[in-house]
Amino acid sequence: MSSFNLTGQKLHNAADAEAETVLLVLSVTADAVLLFQEEGYRGNSYFYHTGPNSHAYHVNVETEKRIYFRCVFYDKLKCWGRAILEIGGGYRQSSNHNHPPDPDFVAQRHFRQNVVNRVREGRYVGFAEILESERRNRRYSRRVRRIMTMRKLRNPMYRARIESFPPVPESLRDLTRLLLRDEWREKISCTVDKDDNLYCGSTTATDNSHHVAFISARMRRFASRISILQSDGTFRARPQVPHSAQVFVLVTPWRNVCIPIGWILMERRTIPAYRAVFQLLKEVCPDLNPSMPKYKAACGTFAGLLSRKPIN
Ligand SMILES: [Zn+2]
Repeated sequence: MSSFNLTGQKLHNAADAEAETVLLVLSVTADAVLLFQEEGYRGNSYFYHTGPNSHAYHVNVETEKRIYFRCVFYDKLKCWGRAILEIGGGYRQSSNHNHPPDPDFVAQRHFRQNVVNRVREGRYVGFAEILESERRNRRYSRRVRRIMTMRKLRNPMYRARIESFPPVPESLRDLTRLLLRDEWREKISCTVDKDDNLYCGSTTATDNSHHVAFISARMRRFASRISILQSDGTFRARPQVPHSAQVFVLVTPWRNVCIPIGWILMERRTIPAYRAVFQLLKEVCPDLNPSMPKYKAACGTFAGLLSRKPIN
């Protein structure tokens, strides 16, 4: 894009007060038309427009002296609308469109881009939550908010999520390898406020089963003060890939509610597995000293294990 007459000036989207995308002014022509460049659907793709209620274009051909644009609806509407930017000169529409300008086009693109960016941030888990929070944004017109439905955005959101995370690990050992790499650990297991990380360690039991523990540093400190520790195994809400036998949840009563201390993704539910998990727990929470450890009766083997190896 270096052939553009870049002023390098960045500004908030003055042309469309509904959106918050920062735009780059490419060229200010003699009649003070601003040509805006905005990110397209794919990486390194852009579309261009001159503000609200203008037609939008993609670059068609670029030469030393001119850039030729064609309508973004070239394929969809078979529109032959064209425009030309003389390098260092003016910008003009060179052939007519077969449709009026779409007043919501830019706002819809901004909406979509913001939603996709929020998926990439990984701050929220649910697509519906992301979409709803964006739809509450009054900077978009009511019409745009109504048009931008889950049906329309699910696929781009799904693609954005797939692209911004590593491939699904095939085993809990592979998950541990991922979590030990700073770039993924940051992305996968950091807390919502980004100040802490849930991942605290992994262990392999004598029966060769592998287990991954998620207890934030804050909760490990908090755990040193609790007097009651309870646990439960979740079998339904657990990943199918990589294979896991259960999510082992540690909880404690706090005021009038029960709050989770941490979660351990367990590959098996054997005595050696629990033994390894509790050994890990003692290492990562050395001050954990509940006077009333309670465990779900379903873990029948557990009581015996604990009586032999109490948390001290
Ligand atoms: Zn057109």
